[in-house]
Amino acid sequence: MQILDGKLVSKSVKNYLAQSVTIQKEKGKKIPHLAAILVGSNGASETYVAGKIKDCEEVGFNSTLLRLDESVSEKSLIEHIGFLNDDPDVDGILVQLPLPVHIKEEHIISSIDPGKDVDGFHPVSMGKMVNGLPTFIPATPYGIMLMLEHYKIETSGKYAVVIGRSHIVGTPMSILLSRNTPYGNCTVTQCHSKTHDLASFCRQADILVAALGKPEFITADMVKEGAVVIDVGITRIPDNTKKSGYRLSGDVKYDEVAPKCSFITPVPGGVGPMTRAALLKNTFNATVALKAVMN
Ligand code: NAP
Repeated sequence: MQILDGKLVSKSVKNYLAQSVTIQKEKGKKIPHLAAILVGSNGASETYVAGKIKDCEEVGFNSTLLRLDESVSEKSLIEHIGFLNDDPDVDGILVQLPLPVHIKEEHIISSIDPGKDVDGFHPVSMGKMVNGLPTFIPATPYGIMLMLEHYKIETSGKYAVVIGRSHIVGTPMSILLSRNTPYGNCTVTQCHSKTHDLASFCRQADILVAALGKPEFITADMVKEGAVVIDVGITRIPDNTKKSGYRLSGDVKYDEVAPKCSFITPVPGGVGPMTRAALLKNTFNATVALKAVMN
């Protein structure tokens, strides 16, 4: 069994990006600039946004954090996004989710310029991804694809089961694994809460992606011998022995599942760091690689 080490792989992605930024600087070219909007003061969102800003600093990107009050109106938030859309120095825009209930997420996502949609949630980005056109890929599935590539995991002709159908993880993941690309070409089944006898699908999977958000849901009896298991789940479990007051749990019962796997991601230290690295890659692409083909 080999651990898919997200910390290690994300470090190599970050090193590559830091070197690329240095070269951009030397050539007098533009430095990538990510603008993040945080509405309100949700604890987890604060942590996620702080991590994204820190990542930008680490690789030499510019970043801006725009904090808006919990009570901000949808109209005003869209106006702020409009300013960032029009700002030629800003390459990537992300709005940290979830948003307060009085704001419709789809209205906000649709108001971002698709050329700056580094989260890849805009309908234009999603449509292009489905059609196999160059675009921004949502960071979590993109990070998983980068990890499969790093470890040269054979996916062609394999049977993949993806549990979850959210538009940020499960759905793009199932599309990416089924596409005719390197690290695609799987035969994919996408499962969800209405799937009958989920375990019978899981037991056949050569590649199992668990993205349901149910701590330790996947047990050893649900996993085929030699499977590749990607655990996307992150749930905070109250734990008084930790300084933070919680520990993180994945969707996979790691201790009993790991011995059966050929490869497995740990939680923490697996998909999480890869998600952060993939957002940086998207931001770099917004400045350099995709700019040319998308404009
Ligand atoms: P989500 O929007 O809540 O979607 C969960 C999906 O799982 C839904 O499609 C749901 O089915 C399905 N599901 C729930 N219970 C199920 C069950 N018992 N059997 C089969 N399917 C079931 O969550 P998400 O945003 O995709 O995130 C999933 C997990 O990944 C969460 O723990 C989240 O924190 C984590 N996450 C981690 C990262 C990272 O960087 N590591 C990034 C994003 C998310 P229905 O559609 O039928 O309701």
